[in-house]
Amino acid sequence: MAREYLKKAEKTAMTDAGDVREIVQNILSDIEAGGDAAAMRYAEQFDKYAGNVILTDDEIEAASAKVSQKLKDDIAFAHDNVRRFAEVQKSTMKDVELEIVPGLIAGQKAIPVRAAGCYVPGGRYSHIASAIMTVTTAKVAGCQHITACSPPRPDVGINPAIVYAANLCGADKILSMGGVQGVAAMTFGLFGLPKADILVGPGNQFVAEAKRILFGRVGIDMIAGPTDSLVLADATADPFMVATDLVSQAEHGYNSPVWLVTDSRVLAEKVMELVPGMIDDLPELNRDNAFAAWRDYAEVIVCANREEMAACSDDYAPEHLTVQAEDLPWWLDRLQCYGSLFLGEETTVSFGDKASGTNHVLPTSRSAKYTGGLSVHKYMKIVTWQRSTRDGARPVAEATARISRLEGMEGHARAADARLHKYFPNENFD
Ligand code: NAD
Repeated sequence: MAREYLKKAEKTAMTDAGDVREIVQNILSDIEAGGDAAAMRYAEQFDKYAGNVILTDDEIEAASAKVSQKLKDDIAFAHDNVRRFAEVQKSTMKDVELEIVPGLIAGQKAIPVRAAGCYVPGGRYSHIASAIMTVTTAKVAGCQHITACSPPRPDVGINPAIVYAANLCGADKILSMGGVQGVAAMTFGLFGLPKADILVGPGNQFVAEAKRILFGRVGIDMIAGPTDSLVLADATADPFMVATDLVSQAEHGYNSPVWLVTDSRVLAEKVMELVPGMIDDLPELNRDNAFAAWRDYAEVIVCANREEMAACSDDYAPEHLTVQAEDLPWWLDRLQCYGSLFLGEETTVSFGDKASGTNHVLPTSRSAKYTGGLSVHKYMKIVTWQRSTRDGARPVAEATARISRLEGMEGHARAADARLHKYFPNENFD
């Protein structure tokens, strides 16, 4: 049976691309030419902020004093979970070495990038958790300098809880600037910041496009644009829990797709009945976001069986993937394309988004086909080295000289020959 769409999206991330690229390129060029002053002009234009942009110790202390003890405890809990998960990930990155031929040893080292620029989104919501996810992971990786940047609220600056979280997790500098101008400031080294070696963190389409354009002169973690989520549910799933999880992710933004893939038409119809009421029940901003996301971007797809459901899910390569179905080990084994997987009703994307320890900066717009989410590995470079004895150099030099000459690369061949002639002067290598 072909996939049956009970609800089909009117729009997708691809149809949205529009002229974002041109807008972002113009802003980047302007800031590169105009430096700090140009970045400030865009901060005023987009975020109505003309205040101090690099937070002082006093400002960080004052912001922290505004955060309740209960929220500080919750941030500490989430930070601890994210840190411990990042530490165990780091332990999987080993320096290794191998004696490739007798006398010649080659090795790999994992070296953290020196300067990380962490983007913490703050347009629609204050993404406190994004500060925890990006800064903590950079710290565990061992980056020498970490900048956290986030959009200021008009006239008052960054949300105090984001400032508190970024500082707790190890940010060396906090930049009160968002969008393309924030990304540009970290990349070009404005306001006295070191130039970032890597930009990480989620953001809206402008932030994602800025990272895409700048990639090459600076590293990026991935394109983590508007959130998307897919729920796989069979007839055993609770329609209320499925609907709750879909609505919870649709509230991210007007352009945040949610998809339900099921082999139960009964479940699909029940969920479609429940969702509008749940959206209506949200506070205004969240309701507007979720309403538009559900109307324009959501899909409900009925498949013949679980194998087809899994294949459909892998085609969508969702950022977040939830399974509410029987036989969770089968799904864990079978599914291949997702940013983060949530198995069973007892966990939910919200846990991963905020506090359970896995990272919430994840690949969107189907990029989970080729990458996973943010982890310490994204901040680390795998580099290689080698050293050799004279005897170890001999067979490699002989092969190198022959390969180089066949390629027409005489200079390479002579570098190899020079070793052979120096170390084995009495032999003939023709
Ligand atoms: P944001 O911080 O990404 O963007 C706000 C900035 O956008 C502002 O500072 C402003 O400078 C800029 N901006 C707004 N309108 C503009 C325009 N017309 N031209 C140029 N710049 C403009 O915050 P947001 O908008 O709330 O978006 C956050 C995004 O992050 C959401 O799409 C959400 O889904 C996503 N997100 C993704 C993940 C992930 O891991 N993929 C995690 C959390 C959030």
